[in-house]
Amino acid sequence: MGQTARTTKLLLDLSTRDQGGTNPGKRSYLTETVSILNAARRFYLDFFLAHPDKLMERVEVISKKTGEVREGVISADNLLTWAEFHTVETPDHPTPLPDWNFSRAFPDLPNRYRRSVIKDVIGKARGYLTSVTKWHASGKKKGKPGIPTASNHPTLYAGTFSLDLDELDLRKSFIRLKVYTGSEWVWVHYPTCYNRYFDRRRAEPGWETASPKLILSKQSAAIHFLQTKTITAKKIVESKRDPDLVTVAVDLNVKQLAVITVRQHGVIKETRFVSDHGLDHQRFEHLKRVAKKQWQSGKAVKGEHSNQQLWAHLRRQHGDGAHKTARAIVEVCEKYPGCVLVFERLRKIKPSGGSKSRRLNRKQANQLRGKINQLAKEKAYAIGVVSVEVNPHGTSQYCARCGCKGVRFTSQAGQRVTGKGGKLFSCPSCHYECHADFNASVNVHHSFFREFHWQPRELKSG
Ligand SMILES: [Zn+2]
Repeated sequence: MGQTARTTKLLLDLSTRDQGGTNPGKRSYLTETVSILNAARRFYLDFFLAHPDKLMERVEVISKKTGEVREGVISADNLLTWAEFHTVETPDHPTPLPDWNFSRAFPDLPNRYRRSVIKDVIGKARGYLTSVTKWHASGKKKGKPGIPTASNHPTLYAGTFSLDLDELDLRKSFIRLKVYTGSEWVWVHYPTCYNRYFDRRRAEPGWETASPKLILSKQSAAIHFLQTKTITAKKIVESKRDPDLVTVAVDLNVKQLAVITVRQHGVIKETRFVSDHGLDHQRFEHLKRVAKKQWQSGKAVKGEHSNQQLWAHLRRQHGDGAHKTARAIVEVCEKYPGCVLVFERLRKIKPSGGSKSRRLNRKQANQLRGKINQLAKEKAYAIGVVSVEVNPHGTSQYCARCGCKGVRFTSQAGQRVTGKGGKLFSCPSCHYECHADFNASVNVHHSFFREFHWQPRELKSG
């Protein structure tokens, strides 16, 4: 049993009114709201840090499950009540602590926002106190923990936001938010970029949605819905005993981003090649320009970024490629419920030798493979598929059919050219010939079951 989480984003439409969006005032309300909530958070952070004994108070807690009484640290709910008692003016309790009168400092701040801010701060303040205690105990001079910052993305609880969906026309859906105009708190409607994709993700069974957050950036504003799902999956050791187990092996490469093979009962049932569609070459061309510019401008100036747009472009391309490849891997897994996803532990392609742009390109390729690996694991786990990592030793060198050491070659004008960089694989012992990446992918299955002599006897599950 485990848990997995994902974020589903809903963009607010902040384009100008003639483009169907909102007016510029509405954008400034969001900024005002974020800043007043940050100030409120600062207030409570200072308040709690001024009362560290209360924050770490040991109390008797009754376990909800067993009814047992034991000693534990005071719960966040109790702290919240305590904090409100000492800082907020109410008819029953008109005199909070004189130095900590929240009602005077932040008149009319909605209760829901106040509570979300307090809860947010409790975790931060406690974490800080714990690390300070640890630091004192360690006796080190350096590395004193810094006071936590108060800024955070506002959490939206019911009562401060609502999502109004137009069933007929999703494009007309909007979100109602309680925002601060700079002088008062009002409800404002924000048009959203609502779409079917969001609709599907939100309603997907098994996923629980937590309170959303308002994420405001320079260019855009969005509501992020954090979703969690409880996963029940067999342990690898148990799965391995199943004679009908399906294994999905992935070999991550540079030109063929992923070669996916599916095996059951010792037979390869399905193969899928995910090509990079020329990404490696394009990236190489881009990096040539980066390298040239770096050479022309000499040493990089500290604190100054060069080639920003190019790097941003490469980042986007990578993100896109990684998501698509991971998606392809998971699509294959979806077809075989109860399967196990097998990866090689990533070996680095050494970024040495060749031109500067070639070295840069190698480095980028390594990063992309790491990203695909990580994303595929996460996405697979969300559908209940567990992944393992096997030792990469020898997967690309040995024959997947007989286990003998083979050679790589390419075919040029009908002539066989043997060489390290060859796309094809040939076995001198059983005369098996195939695509080298396919051979490697099949060998990943062998590594998982440890079927050949060249496989080391260790397995790490991930
Ligand atoms: Zn062979």
